[in-house]
Amino acid sequence: MIEVVTIDGPSGSGKSTASKLIAKKLGYNYLDTGAMYRAFALIVLEKGFEYNKSKYVKLLRNFEVEFKTRNNNQRVYCEERDITEAIRMPDVSMWASTLSKEKEVRDRMFVLQRKIGENGKIVAEGRDMGTVVFKDAFAKFFLNASLEVRAERRWKELKEKGINQSLQDVINDIQKRDEQDTHRDIAPLKPAEDALIIDTSELTLDEVVSKIYENVIQKLKVWKS
Ligand code: C5P
Repeated sequence: MIEVVTIDGPSGSGKSTASKLIAKKLGYNYLDTGAMYRAFALIVLEKGFEYNKSKYVKLLRNFEVEFKTRNNNQRVYCEERDITEAIRMPDVSMWASTLSKEKEVRDRMFVLQRKIGENGKIVAEGRDMGTVVFKDAFAKFFLNASLEVRAERRWKELKEKGINQSLQDVINDIQKRDEQDTHRDIAPLKPAEDALIIDTSELTLDEVVSKIYENVIQKLKVWKS
């Protein structure tokens, strides 16, 4: 077993905010694996590769992402460039989902993610953390919420970032990404068998964090005793 907490779930399930808070409470590092897929999608988009597999597969070999903390916020860097805001754009989200279906892309991310997690003490957030990348994590969670609640959360998040997408467009994007992420052949979005599933539709952030935190502490006690 490794000292890793995994938090998986679809977009808008509340996993990012909860993961960050849990990491802080535990004194662990926070690993945002969605940001890694987004970073790669941004690079491919900027190169104008569209869906040309042979070209982007070459890029993967040297692909690296760096996470740095600035003023208590995690920033994402690729090729020495701060891409924290750029990777949140709606077209990057969709490309991240499309590219993440490819084996070559997932294999590269797997290597990078395992490397970041090799010393443990991380909260890893994504789609396949509990099922594939950190199968041996000691505590696993899967967050979900209704489509309406998730879309509304995402719409608000985008608005706060100055991105004005209509609620209907956000619903459409989320539905399309859910469909792609859930039905892909490799590492589809699904709860690990040993994950605690939490529906966050009717819960406050504090309630979600408390539920996860209590469960983690309980599992740590059992594991370390
Ligand atoms: O979590 P986030 O919305 O930032 O992720 C963007 C996309 O990256 C997801 O829609 C999904 O297709 C992909 N992803 C993935 N596996 C992960 C994390 C993200 O396939 N572990």
